[in-house]
Amino acid sequence: MLDFEGMTELSKSFREKLRAAATVTETRIENVFYSSDGTRRYLLKLGDDKEVEAVFMPDERRDTICISSQVGCAVGCKFCMTAQLGIKRNMTAGEIVSQVIVVLNEVYGPAAELPHKTNLVFMGMGESFLNYQEVMNSIRLMADEKGLGISPKRMTVSTSGIVPRINDFARESVRPRIAISLSSAIDEIRDDLMPINRKYRLDELIEACREYPLSDRERLTFEYVMLDGVNDSDQDARRLVRLLNGIKAKVNLIPHNPAPELPFRASPVERILAFQKILIDGDVPAFIRRPRGQDISAACGQLAARH
Ligand code: SAH
Ligand code: SF4
Repeated sequence: MLDFEGMTELSKSFREKLRAAATVTETRIENVFYSSDGTRRYLLKLGDDKEVEAVFMPDERRDTICISSQVGCAVGCKFCMTAQLGIKRNMTAGEIVSQVIVVLNEVYGPAAELPHKTNLVFMGMGESFLNYQEVMNSIRLMADEKGLGISPKRMTVSTSGIVPRINDFARESVRPRIAISLSSAIDEIRDDLMPINRKYRLDELIEACREYPLSDRERLTFEYVMLDGVNDSDQDARRLVRLLNGIKAKVNLIPHNPAPELPFRASPVERILAFQKILIDGDVPAFIRRPRGQDISAACGQLAARH
């Protein structure tokens, strides 16, 4: 229903109020790509025909839905396909929420039970903390009992390190978990991989992490994309242990998901294992992320609204 006039169960005066204050747009599925591992990539069309992607990842225990927060991204990380789109526009809170509804409807049918037991990660296209208000509004809508009823504990917002917004996020009353994309513990290397580092440097970022309020069992998650010969040496691992010293942290090592347009290769498995061992020996819990949906360009960093 794209027109308030047709919502005849609402009073006429309320319909008029709605018409003056709001618009209805539709998020349509342009295409769905099915991976051999069960992952589904959704190419979605927003009301103005701009395209974003969402990813559904089934798991024995709990599904995960990965959603976008912007059309494209302005941050420009060298290892990420979304960066190559540049930034087109921010998504509205409604558009952000619509991704979850559209995906659940496609997977489970329109009668999908809500609240649905699913994990939600803001790890699709875009930098959530450069669209802070709309992302926070979408989180409140999705967490609300009358909305989707998804617990904020089941949501994770991933950021490339927008320090002032990390500080704001720390003070939110409805607050998901946070993940910070690090990918190097060395400023010169991070400057090159993630240009945002020239604005918010590692010492500022780590300072914000130190001050971040964590509950007893909570840890800050750091994501580290493993790039062959770039950031994966023993020395890099030791620098990471030193950087995270004193922070309740865990590290997710993400083997680089390649694309012909990207100038990197994934680190070999033995290198990733050696890197992980140095972290664990340094008392930093470290996990190797299994790539999902690589065959349909649905894995981390591969989202580029491809047909
Ligand atoms: N903009 C946010 C969230 C989207 S990216 C952020 O950068 O945190 C989600 C994760 O995918 C980030 O940790 C990012 O570092 C990682 N990533 C980006 N490109 C990748 C690639 N080609 N291979 C593996 N991981 C990648
Ligand atoms: Fe943007 Fe995240 Fe990709 Fe960097 S990794 S360009 S912040 S989507």
